[in-house]
Amino acid sequence: MALSREQAERFDGRVGELAEDAFSFLERLVACASTVGSEQAAQEIVADALAATGFEVSELAVPESIGAHRLAGVPQRPYEGRFDVVGRRNGTDPVLLFNGHIDVVPADRATWSTDPFTPVRRDGWLRGRGAGDMKGGFAMAVLALRALASACPDALDLPVGFVSVIEEECTGNGTLASLLAGVTGRVVVLPEPSDLGALLAGVGVLWVDLELRGSGGHAHAADHLLTPVGAIPALVDAIGELGRSWSAEVPDEDLVGVVQPFTTNVGLIECGNWRSSVASSARLGVRVGFPRALPPDEALRRVEAAVRAAIAPEARGGVAPEARGGVAPEARGGVAPEDAGIDVSVSASGFRAEGYRLDPKDELVELLASCHESALGRPIERFGLGSTTDARYYVNELGVPALCYGPTAVNIHGADEAVDLQSIVDGARTLGRLVARIGELEATNREPASSLATSSVDALGADER
Ligand SMILES: [Zn+2]
Repeated sequence: MALSREQAERFDGRVGELAEDAFSFLERLVACASTVGSEQAAQEIVADALAATGFEVSELAVPESIGAHRLAGVPQRPYEGRFDVVGRRNGTDPVLLFNGHIDVVPADRATWSTDPFTPVRRDGWLRGRGAGDMKGGFAMAVLALRALASACPDALDLPVGFVSVIEEECTGNGTLASLLAGVTGRVVVLPEPSDLGALLAGVGVLWVDLELRGSGGHAHAADHLLTPVGAIPALVDAIGELGRSWSAEVPDEDLVGVVQPFTTNVGLIECGNWRSSVASSARLGVRVGFPRALPPDEALRRVEAAVRAAIAPEARGGVAPEARGGVAPEARGGVAPEDAGIDVSVSASGFRAEGYRLDPKDELVELLASCHESALGRPIERFGLGSTTDARYYVNELGVPALCYGPTAVNIHGADEAVDLQSIVDGARTLGRLVARIGELEATNREPASSLATSSVDALGADER
């Protein structure tokens, strides 16, 4: 049921009293460096916290074969010993499911003021890798549920689920595995950092690796050759241009206000082994944002076409390498012109994520907006971002309303990432009200969205791509 004024006051008071417990839970999570492949210590902390909040907790394996599924990203490493954690409260068929990702991106210690995996509290902020994205959201959801269970247990008598997934930051395969195992809800809330706004839409995201191979040689011939390293600027430009042209040509109605929604990023460059040798190979790890209208395979084809065009002889003015240097390199014992080209291969290497969008007028959004306003006394903002979240699986594949609502964070994926502790408390006040409202609708059989009863995970099948 919805909270009465008196219940709401009691609940808000309890949130304040339990906040310190939530912050120390967050500190324990941040202290676990749960980068890809190292998620399990943090998952155990989540499992313990859920059990202490009245959830039945189990581990959920990610099948090694998941990479073959049409909705999967390219797995980053074997899944043995790496689990999702699933919690169920009041039954096995959640009305409301919380989804959080336990994985964090790596941190470059040299750029941080303090150790990224030693949480530091200062001036109302908690600093540490993952504090914002998205362990602060775990703290917020658990705080809301505990305070509700303690202050107004009747308002928490609906079936609630919580899934803590791996690989959100690179593939989405943790959430996909949970869907394939039948873990979903009629509505889903992901407490990703959203500055207490309703994050409703994301772009398509693709990870692509470009492998460049040449023949190498002595550094004195570097000027005469098209080398893997020499090709990098043209490739970075070409891929960047693709994102800029998508942003200009395919405006996304949900991304109004995002200056350039479809950005590309070369996040990784590996090449070379000696300063006086021409590097014979190079690998570029690229993240490409693309419009919702494109399937990931089509985005990949366009990236490959742009890459091949950028290093084609015509793109280099059609001039033979030896002509540019004045003297044929073989005359000086260098590499023959026919060996001077480079090969390139382009392959998906992680995310193959479609864009997604939840209707800003969806009943779940309206419910959240009214709970946010009642808890915090101000209207909620509804927006989309040039990134992705695992909400896409629920929205795109099951037609299940899913949105992100989480704390205020700064520097996510960067140095000195931090979360605003007061925003965790404020967000918990909204979430507790939302849980109660959804429970009330469920009890009176007014489901938050009409299409939900028919959504089925069976439709996902074991479809191979
Ligand atoms: Zn995140």
